[in-house]
Amino acid sequence: MKEFEFLKSELEDMKENHTWQEIKQVESKQGAYVTVNGKQVMQLSSNNYLGLTSHPRLVKAAQAAAEQFGAGTASVRTIAGTFTMHHELEKTLAAFKKTEAALVFQSGFTTNQGVLSSILTKEDIVISDELNHASIIDGIRLTKADKKVYRHVDMDDLERVLKKSMNYRMRLIVTDGVFSMDGNIAPLPEIVKLAEAYDAFVMVDDAHASGVLGENGRGTVNHFGLDGRVHIQVGTLSKAIGVLGGYVAGSHVLIDYLRHKGRPFLFSTSHPPAVTAACIEAINVLLEEPQHMEQLWDNTNYFKSMLVKMGLTLTKSETPILPIIIGEEALAQQFSERLLSEGIFAQSIVFPTVAKGKARIRTMITAEHTKKELDQALAVIQSAAKELHLL
Ligand SMILES: *Cc1c(COP(=O)(O)O)cnc(C)c1O
Repeated sequence: MKEFEFLKSELEDMKENHTWQEIKQVESKQGAYVTVNGKQVMQLSSNNYLGLTSHPRLVKAAQAAAEQFGAGTASVRTIAGTFTMHHELEKTLAAFKKTEAALVFQSGFTTNQGVLSSILTKEDIVISDELNHASIIDGIRLTKADKKVYRHVDMDDLERVLKKSMNYRMRLIVTDGVFSMDGNIAPLPEIVKLAEAYDAFVMVDDAHASGVLGENGRGTVNHFGLDGRVHIQVGTLSKAIGVLGGYVAGSHVLIDYLRHKGRPFLFSTSHPPAVTAACIEAINVLLEEPQHMEQLWDNTNYFKSMLVKMGLTLTKSETPILPIIIGEEALAQQFSERLLSEGIFAQSIVFPTVAKGKARIRTMITAEHTKKELDQALAVIQSAAKELHLL
């Protein structure tokens, strides 16, 4: 049979440039420790910020829903796939985000695609931070709107673009709430102020902020006291929430429109009952068990202060995403392998996920790690960093 010679040669190039990554298989449930290659290792790579993936209340809710409602839903939402619990989750999310309504999609990725591709037309302009998530970039690619990218969190550049965009029907500013590869928080108060001055709309993707920032984990909008001033809030149910899915929260008009025009909502099957029930329970846990978020921040502050003391190069992170900047792809991969051999699973992140020459080890702290475990991880990181002449 004909072979994909051109793909093969590209893969070989990637191996040479150390941008080819072996995907590790996890052989246990997620938690502070996971099994990789038959060995228990400390998990410092997941988005399981609060440990909810294996929280007994979520697992129990999923089991009960599967028992009562089955394994699948057998239809897209608009035809026969909307169960009462799908509505219940959306009501729960709207209340959580302090908006009029919310709509759930299959993932955070499809949420951004669904929202951006449906509300933007060629009469509009979308103005996007240069480090926004791939799903925002792809969502924008699907539209006929004009596109402008502003320099990362650079408010002067954003204002410059806004000034030149007054002829469009809609100016939509889009930003990640927390930037996933650096861990810094978007300057939302300034963005909202500019949006109000230039009559623009604001869309915030709080994938890494929901469950992490704001009252009970409501996200960056609430964290900055901007409830009611951001038009579109996107979130994921796949990170701190611990399950799977994405949602958009906003006004009745926006949500009703997306119900009729959001393509992943219209043309892809709805979440199984186990997923939806676990998501509802996750929000209940956020509201009723604030101790997980408190522990997450205690751990973050401790781990970050120790990394700083050690003298490693970090990003301007303000969140539990704490990347150690290495630079060269090969060195980052070597560092990560070294850590794994010492029982610490901290994945290297290389091009194209981050820029070339900006390879890093992204450590992600969770509420489940004890101080003793964090100390163990820090000791391993320090000795590996010395060995590779990073210290
Ligand atoms: C992870 C992430 C997504 C994708 O969410 P999924 O639910 O995993 O598809 C979208 N936006 C941002 C900013 C993210 O970090």
